[in-house]
Amino acid sequence: MDVKMKIYQSSTPMPQVPNKGIYDLLFADTSFDDGQIVFKECFGDHKEISRGQLKLQLHRFGLGLQQKKGLKKGDVVLAILPNMIGFPIAVFGCVFAGLIVAFANPAYSEKELKHIANLVEPKAIATVKPLLKQITNAGLSIESCIIMDQPYGQGSTFVDDLLASESDARKAKAVTVNDLNETAYLPCSSGTTGLPKAVMISHRNMVSMLVTLVSIPHFYDKPWRAVAVAPFFHAMALANAVHLPLFKKGSYVAIMQRFDAGEFCDVVKNEKIDFANLAPPALRVLMAHPKVKQLNRIELMCVGAAPLDAELQQRAMDVFGCEIAQGHGMTETTVGTLGMQKKRKLGSCGPPMPGLELRVVDDDGNDVKQGERGELLVRAGNIFRGYWKNEAATKETFTDDGQWLKTGDIAVVHDTGDFSIVDRKKELIKYKGYQVAPAELEGLLLQHPKVAAAAVIGIYDKELVTELPRAYIQLKPDHKQEGQSNVEQLAKDLTEFIAKQTSSHKRLRGGVRILEQVPVNPSGKILRKEIRALAAKEENEK
Ligand code: AMP
Repeated sequence: MDVKMKIYQSSTPMPQVPNKGIYDLLFADTSFDDGQIVFKECFGDHKEISRGQLKLQLHRFGLGLQQKKGLKKGDVVLAILPNMIGFPIAVFGCVFAGLIVAFANPAYSEKELKHIANLVEPKAIATVKPLLKQITNAGLSIESCIIMDQPYGQGSTFVDDLLASESDARKAKAVTVNDLNETAYLPCSSGTTGLPKAVMISHRNMVSMLVTLVSIPHFYDKPWRAVAVAPFFHAMALANAVHLPLFKKGSYVAIMQRFDAGEFCDVVKNEKIDFANLAPPALRVLMAHPKVKQLNRIELMCVGAAPLDAELQQRAMDVFGCEIAQGHGMTETTVGTLGMQKKRKLGSCGPPMPGLELRVVDDDGNDVKQGERGELLVRAGNIFRGYWKNEAATKETFTDDGQWLKTGDIAVVHDTGDFSIVDRKKELIKYKGYQVAPAELEGLLLQHPKVAAAAVIGIYDKELVTELPRAYIQLKPDHKQEGQSNVEQLAKDLTEFIAKQTSSHKRLRGGVRILEQVPVNPSGKILRKEIRALAAKEENEK
């Protein structure tokens, strides 16, 4: 090993990671009669499911996929599902049957769904009735759809008609995972550059991540009564709200489908919730809500997916009367890298999670001194295997020796051993915890008849505690005059142009600016630093 490397690790050791696949780890020793309620829907008919019922249902689902849909080990099933009990049934049913689950945001536009489906080529789609129009408009076949909530007909399969019999399901055995590096999941991330890609998360990645998470001091070291409102298809909830509560036996998850501050406070009160995992923008909304006192039964609130500054963290802790731990992670690390620990330096992400190795390096890949800024690199069992069918992007995301994941995040290590994420080297924008890939919006803007060049960056809004996507546009020569005389109308047109083709979180909420020329280098690469400087100048002049 290069002696010049400065590797940071947790002072808490991580136990041996079991040599098991996801099904074996979470369900092999669960009895079908286990009556402990593990998930409850806090909407509709308030359905709930016990651990034993979940095991039975996922066996029935997995067996149904094999017998009635003819799916075979390694086939991909695309889950386009909101937060609901059907989500773990479908996901773990696929795991049982040796299938790979890809995830799409149920709010995706037709264009976005098409992109994901082209990428992962699913053999079946698990979804709900209200999304069918969107799915078929995207050109996906109705015959491939399994409807998890209510019958629809038209060639689709209702889940009740897919499920194998109880007696067969009880006898059935999960498909063997021969190699723990086999891909289990394909969540989506744009990574450091370009369009959204499918991230290969293996059985080993998820199992290793779960062992890490339960090893973090005072995080999931005991079963919690948790509220889950973050979307299950995203890494944060997929690991923390869908897998972790099953790994830490005795846990309970109250499921919400969308964030509403008043309903959130009621769920915390009615379900006796003591643990919550949120993205930072939700904190500010909750702090101002008249029912906020109902949150004082929460013991630990974990915040991740985007930065939380010291001032807001302290104020939120004072208002909620609970500990707030910040964490950092990314889809490519299954979920976590840093933190989720109480009583760390305010506003920081905290120390490395147990079992992970981290480095901070300069642009030439040399390790910087503690306290200096540099890109965060990670090596651990929870680091993804690569992007599905995209070797070039995979290669770019790891160091030349293939050992270290380049996160694209700029970090500083404090003398307390806590890390802060201070900037981003990669192109990603995050709106309320959701990814927005600049390249995707730039590609769309270039299809507009008046646009010659476009650059999209994130503008941080302190009030909303999130970045907002803003477009910088260069007009085609024929439209330059018009652009100057009618900037507002043009900005409105372009905002609508994007809104029509993308899901809500990708809207140009940060505005549109017209430039004489979008700065690019000689090979045509957008000079984002210069665009960021323009944005900072505008901010200073306010
Ligand atoms: P995702 O893959 O959607 O989870 O997005 C991962 C990215 O979110 C990271 O690479 C960071 O840029 C950002 N992120 C996550 N957690 C934090 C945090 N605590 N502070 C700053 N940025 C964060």
